[in-house]
Amino acid sequence: MKDKYDALIIGGGITGASTAYHLKKFGLKDVILLERHRPASGGTGKSAAIVRQHYSTELMARLALNSVILFENMNKELNIDNAFYKTGYIMLVPEELMEKAANNLEMQKNVGIETDWLPKSQWKKFVPWLNTKNVSGVIYEPKGGRADPIRVTEGYLKKFTELGGELRTKTFCREIIKESGRVIGVVVDEGIIYSDVVVNAAGPWSKPIAEQAGIELPLKSFREQDTIWESRISGDLPNLSISNAVDSIYFVPQGNKRFLIGKGFPKKYFEVDPYNYKLTADDEFISNIKKIVEDRFPILKDMKLINSYAALYDVTPDWYPFVGKRSSINGYFDANGGSGHGFKIGPAIGCELAKWIINGKTEKDFEKLSFDRIEKKELFEGAYGGNRG
Ligand SMILES: Cc1cc2nc3c(=O)[nH]c(=O)nc-3n(C[C@H](O)[C@H](O)[C@H](O)COP(=O)(O)OP(=O)(O)OC[C@H]3O[C@@H](n4cnc5c(N)ncnc54)[C@H](O)[C@@H]3O)c2cc1C
Repeated sequence: MKDKYDALIIGGGITGASTAYHLKKFGLKDVILLERHRPASGGTGKSAAIVRQHYSTELMARLALNSVILFENMNKELNIDNAFYKTGYIMLVPEELMEKAANNLEMQKNVGIETDWLPKSQWKKFVPWLNTKNVSGVIYEPKGGRADPIRVTEGYLKKFTELGGELRTKTFCREIIKESGRVIGVVVDEGIIYSDVVVNAAGPWSKPIAEQAGIELPLKSFREQDTIWESRISGDLPNLSISNAVDSIYFVPQGNKRFLIGKGFPKKYFEVDPYNYKLTADDEFISNIKKIVEDRFPILKDMKLINSYAALYDVTPDWYPFVGKRSSINGYFDANGGSGHGFKIGPAIGCELAKWIINGKTEKDFEKLSFDRIEKKELFEGAYGGNRG
């Protein structure tokens, strides 16, 4: 281990891993990443990992588009297989959201995203397994789908170490050290690791780490449940990732007739202690999912539950992440607050954050993601609310 690093990252989820890799890729010399367990052992490893570009602000749409480009190139750039499944993505839109969805679609096309309404005349052929009751519109993105969150994160970290980065797993960051208005390093069990730059990418646990150093970080940890089902029949099964805003569920085909299904926004959110929460899903949640799916996808009425679990969303006051420098603390960077949609934008966030750290400035409107927006009272407003962004 060196005496001092140019940058130190706390947390080996998608955000920390992408940031670490891009810092090395863009030429920073001494970079270290600390992970208390193993890579992707936080929210990343449990993520539904839907990849979509349907967002309601230009900034987020641009980041989602850039991430898709990075996902598409991952097999070459990171030398990994089966990281991204470009199955396509659809959003089912209820009548009350049609106008907002149409506005978003226009903005997304201007940003360069390939997306459009699926004409009603094509519904029967394109989504034959869908009960279209109460569905007023279907939005289609051919370049959406899902990723394998563990393979992507491990892929970034493998390449990071190949480029000379230092990965320390099973290493708990106990404290960030501040001196005269700047961070100078962190405390681990073995002692102090000094670094000019500290990136707090510890997901829901970023808050206790920050607060220990007197750094304000208004994150809430919400328990998020997911279920995995298997169809016992063959045939024309759903084959696209789906945000179903009509019934508030998300639906992700996993291959081998398996489907990941969770509840989407709006729903009740329960704030929990990130170090102590229930890891299994509730029976009521599971039966509710089954009921919705049987109605919306009748072909799946005999599906069988394979697995269910709960993990954490780290949610900011406006459901947009905190990324970047803070004007009040030199050397400290946030990369947290994924707010339930942080996986797909993780690759692009890490890329732009690395440029910001190295160049001392950032491009376009990326700096708006800084925590500074809280003090400036410049919060984001997503068209649909919550993690729909
Ligand atoms: C059930 C579920 C479904 C989701 N579905 C989607 C989806 O479909 N699409 C999407 O885009 N997003 C989705 N998300 C959100 C997305 O997965 C997260 O926003 C993203 O993965 C967060 O990544 P991260 O790297 O910021 O944090 P994390 O993955 O939580 O990583 C933080 C890491 O920091 C480590 N750490 C914590 N404390 C310390 C410490 N003191 N010292 C060292 N290391 C520490 C942890 O062990 C962990 O590995 C979902 C999230 C959940 C929970």
